[in-house]
Amino acid sequence: MIDFELSKDQIACNEKARVFVLENIASFVQKLEEDLDFRLELFKLMSREGYFQLALPQDGKPKDSIAYLLALKEFARIDAGISVAMTVSNMVSEIIYDVGTPTQKKQYLGENVKNNGAPFSFALTEHQAGSDAKKIQTKATREGNNYIIHGEKKYITNADVATVTVVMAKLNDDEDPNITAFLIDKGLPGFSIIKKENKLGLLTANLVGFKCDCCRIPEAQRLGAEGEGFKLALKALDSGRLGVAAQALGIAESAFEAARKFSMEREQFGAPIAKQQAIAFKLADMQVKLSAGELLLFKAAWRKDKGLPYTLEASEAKLYCSEAANQIADEALQIHGGCGYTKDFLVEKYFRDARVTTIYEGTSEIQRLVISREILKKL
Ligand SMILES: Cc1cc2nc3c(=O)[nH]c(=O)nc-3n(C[C@H](O)[C@H](O)[C@H](O)COP(=O)(O)OP(=O)(O)OC[C@H]3O[C@@H](n4cnc5c(N)ncnc54)[C@H](O)[C@@H]3O)c2cc1C
Repeated sequence: MIDFELSKDQIACNEKARVFVLENIASFVQKLEEDLDFRLELFKLMSREGYFQLALPQDGKPKDSIAYLLALKEFARIDAGISVAMTVSNMVSEIIYDVGTPTQKKQYLGENVKNNGAPFSFALTEHQAGSDAKKIQTKATREGNNYIIHGEKKYITNADVATVTVVMAKLNDDEDPNITAFLIDKGLPGFSIIKKENKLGLLTANLVGFKCDCCRIPEAQRLGAEGEGFKLALKALDSGRLGVAAQALGIAESAFEAARKFSMEREQFGAPIAKQQAIAFKLADMQVKLSAGELLLFKAAWRKDKGLPYTLEASEAKLYCSEAANQIADEALQIHGGCGYTKDFLVEKYFRDARVTTIYEGTSEIQRLVISREILKKL
């Protein structure tokens, strides 16, 4: 049976997020971009409201990925940078929920954690290990009941503000494909931020490089079994890809709405430019892409919640929504003409924010690799 209707809970979750974003973000985006302390206050509020753990089962009910993704999309419609903090935190919450020990779950999830007030962070990428994640060089050396973590990570979201960062490291030599996940708490001796990145877009997102200089952590901070890290990372990425797809759709929806409004108001040759078929057809193509993207996203989310494999569907949704968001933001800017190229109109922000969605959580080329492998597996 196919049912396209959203449940009452999903509608309520979407509506609550819409109001939260309008009240707490919409009028403050520039201040959030420029003032880290102001952003940290917003993170506290988001944490208290449960937005960093929304992908987990709520109020004793089964997990509802569509509700979570609808809320995430609302954040991305107004500010994609803040939505990145949200999607990464939810991704980490899910890993801890799935494989964390009871102590880890108590420490990092649930009610008392809502008061910690900061997002989570997930650190896989290194200088020589981007798409080829197995090439990481960060080392974890066992010393009795402790591990010594040593290495550098690059392009990590939230790591400078996170309460905890999941750090992927290798127990053996560089050629060993097995990696292991560790939980590194904020303020751990030896952990330091080595670079804050200046970015094209997502100006409210924290993106840093960090160093673990012989960080000593107890065995209890290992997340999952030794050598299980890559499996955990792939599972987390499936979920993270749904987050990026939702984020891309949110940006694209706002770009589309801005273009539609502008095209009905801007007059050239004695009529609104929307009356020109060339412009109206651009809007039609955008609308189809938004609808198709949403269907791909919800199908993948539905499979996830049913406990069905959804690697293929997550990559399809991520690839399609991110490429569509870039096309839609580009056409929306074109419809704005010269206005679109200025900071007076939000469409230039959508154009910049959309760009990264085809890059992180696996580039479009890597999504095609995943999709082709999945299809060929079935032959
Ligand atoms: C804003 C932002 C936030 C990020 N947040 C995080 C984070 O929180 N945690 C984290 O661990 N990482 C994070 N990253 C890193 C991100 O996941 C990587 O940038 C991404 O995986 C690509 O790796 P790379 O940049 O090293 O590119 P590369 O892997 O060097 O790729 C360069 C180009 O080569 C292509 N390519 C590579 N291999 C193949 C292949 N086999 N076939 C075809 N083409 C290929 C790629 O598609 C790309 O076009 C973030 C990055 C950005 C920009």
